Amino acid sequence: MRRTPRRIAFVALPALMAGVLVSTGPAGADPTGTSTTVGSVRAELETRDQVRRVHVKLAGADMLDRVVAAGFDLDHGLKRVPTGIEGEAVVTAEQIAELTAMGVEVLGDDEGFAWSDEADGGIQGAAARAAQPASHDATVRIARADWFTTKGQGFLYVEARTTEGQQEEPVVEMQLENDSGRGTSFGFPRTMSRFVDSGQYMFHRNLFKLDARPNQIRVTSSTGGVTTGKVSDWLEDAPPPLTANPSYKSDFVDGYKHPQQLYSRAKEIARQYPDIAEIVYLPNQTNGYQRKAQATIGGTDQSAVVVSSAAWGHEGGNDITVEFVGRPEADLPLTVEVAGKAVRVLLATDASGAPASTATQVADALKARSQGLIDRAHPYRTNAGTGIVAPTAGPVALTDFLDQKRVGAPEGEVPRGPVTIPVLRIGKHRDGKKPGVLIQAQDHAREWVPATTSLESAERLVHNYRSDRETKKIVDNTDVFFILSNNPDGANYSFYNFASQRKNMTNHCPDATADPGQRNSWGVDLNRNYRVGSGHDGYAGGSTNCVSGTYQGPEELSEPESKNIIWLVEKYSNIKFMMSVHSNGGQLFWQPGAYIADGRITTPRPPLGDEAFYWQSASRILSQVKAHRETVVTPENVGGSSDVLYSSAGNVREDLYYTYGIYAFGWEVGGSVYNPATGDWQGGSFQPEWAGNPELVSGHAETMEYANGIMEMFRVAADWGRDRKDPTSELVPGGGKYRGPVDVRFETSEPATIYYTTDGSRPTLQSPRYAATEFREPGQVFHVTETTTFKWFSVDSAGNIEKNYDPTKNDRRNNYRTATITIARR
Ligand SMILES: [Zn+2]
Repeated sequence: MRRTPRRIAFVALPALMAGVLVSTGPAGADPTGTSTTVGSVRAELETRDQVRRVHVKLAGADMLDRVVAAGFDLDHGLKRVPTGIEGEAVVTAEQIAELTAMGVEVLGDDEGFAWSDEADGGIQGAAARAAQPASHDATVRIARADWFTTKGQGFLYVEARTTEGQQEEPVVEMQLENDSGRGTSFGFPRTMSRFVDSGQYMFHRNLFKLDARPNQIRVTSSTGGVTTGKVSDWLEDAPPPLTANPSYKSDFVDGYKHPQQLYSRAKEIARQYPDIAEIVYLPNQTNGYQRKAQATIGGTDQSAVVVSSAAWGHEGGNDITVEFVGRPEADLPLTVEVAGKAVRVLLATDASGAPASTATQVADALKARSQGLIDRAHPYRTNAGTGIVAPTAGPVALTDFLDQKRVGAPEGEVPRGPVTIPVLRIGKHRDGKKPGVLIQAQDHAREWVPATTSLESAERLVHNYRSDRETKKIVDNTDVFFILSNNPDGANYSFYNFASQRKNMTNHCPDATADPGQRNSWGVDLNRNYRVGSGHDGYAGGSTNCVSGTYQGPEELSEPESKNIIWLVEKYSNIKFMMSVHSNGGQLFWQPGAYIADGRITTPRPPLGDEAFYWQSASRILSQVKAHRETVVTPENVGGSSDVLYSSAGNVREDLYYTYGIYAFGWEVGGSVYNPATGDWQGGSFQPEWAGNPELVSGHAETMEYANGIMEMFRVAADWGRDRKDPTSELVPGGGKYRGPVDVRFETSEPATIYYTTDGSRPTLQSPRYAATEFREPGQVFHVTETTTFKWFSVDSAGNIEKNYDPTKNDRRNNYRTATITIARR
């Protein structure tokens, strides 16, 4: 039987996160946002981005939370390193000083990521030690020991836990040793790094360079616990890639594409391949690549006035001028004259004929008496507006600043106003019966590679449909929805104006941050705007500060771009897979992706069957990425995003998985690449040179390798849709008579969740679920001391139930599994 979509009850927990003051945003004053007079305006409109990207190092998650809450733009490219978190910050010089004051280490623009804790662990030359018999001690467990190679270099990645890991005084140390292949002895003890997140001990972990593949590792704790484990291969089990077919066509995308190009090509594909493609239009238009025309007049002190047009800039706001006029006569009242689009504020004078209007008075007069041209006027930032306003040298032109093109912007004008986002739907049978896969790219505007990666995948589907059997199988058996850019307004702003734009262009800011000097910091982080594990419910990693890089919006689903995603998955309920494609970081994520910081309470962990299915899918997807040029997404960057990176409140994946039962992946394409010439991992960037070094940092190479991964995700979905095979499971060792207590555990033939009872009752979907010993570990071990009967069944990721058992009906067949462990009385 098939499962029905999961509906996990989700309890919204009370807000625990302290509110963040809106007025303390770190965005620096932008001189182009202050007053300019007509004539000099156009000449001054050569904005250079005042920000730069620097590498930063933070001591841990607590510091990260503080820095993000203060409004810093730190998302993506973040990486756990043994001594903390490293990442990139988009900052001004002023902000660098603020970061340093908060304890953040700013490493500069040029220093790349480097694992500082590498060790050369070849066995050669080592003093051989007598191999010790493997012993199991409950105080130490190995969660992972993965071996991989990239560009001729081997690596060993280990995660191990001690049950004493939370202990602070003294901190328990863990030592790792490895052999150098079957039958060799352990050697090269190295101290492992303790990973603590939000005050909770997670595990110890390290990535080590090694020249020979070990067969086993041994981990010893400073309190005497010791265990050994076998080394597994990471990404070494790839099925043949689609590109193995010599007639397979790829490499269609020839450069970065702005949203107009992406959407235009999507529509063209639908016209060219009407039998397998169509366009679905999303119902909520974006808020638009558009802004109100503004000026900050009179400097930035108590006499400064910030004015904003009622009309959008391109709809007349840009034609407005505002002039503050002084007059020689004494004791005149404040008045406003309007002639066409010219607004003249005749400043009040005192008894001596000197100007006497304060900034607040001028702002109020403009709002009340500009005949509707100005609907927002206020003092600058947090000023009270008590200063006396000075006359301007002439009329000041208001501008939306959108005709200021950044260096390197594409040719042409950007269409202004709201945008309808087209979804490119590809599939032979688009009748809702095939598993749907949603590929959603570029929630974050500056992430250009996700859009080209998604477009390349769409091109491969349609161009290879008639000539490649594997591609035909995908198109015949899936229903794919491509959103090539889910943030077209922000993406245009990134292409044409401000390359580092992350959010959309909606300005929700109050007066204190609404002046045009803040315009590059406005917008909502679309991947913090969803309903599950939301910042509005107290989860960490979304900001209430409207100029923060992770601003979550005034409420859940406040933005049309996020409303559209919910509309799409509700309308097309066959969507069972989703990939939210981001850059750059070299990570593949699923749930849990958010937690409440106090106590580190994550969203619910997926059942073991889903967790195993995610891992299996990840391995397939990432093996295909590796097949292109040996780029390895390392295992420490794969898993629940809040476990391996940080909490991101209100992300889309949590909503789609917990509300709709969709397998929802998050992807950071374009991460670190191992550079054999330097022996270091070289970090990626948001907009790597398209035709850069094909072995290192190149937008083209990233597009091609990650498109391989998206194609494999389609194959995962197609296989899932055709999966009619029931899982099987075993209790190991099985039922029978034992002379004393015995340890038992379940094994399954494929990723599957087991529901079991030990009280004699029949197992149902409400029965206990077989769980992991701890997250990122295999299933738990039951220590059975008395005669016990286990009754159970397993359910695979496609909803097939072992032996066709129906847990919802108490029928006479009751063909669940059963085993009795009989413990002899002594
Ligand atoms: Zn992103």
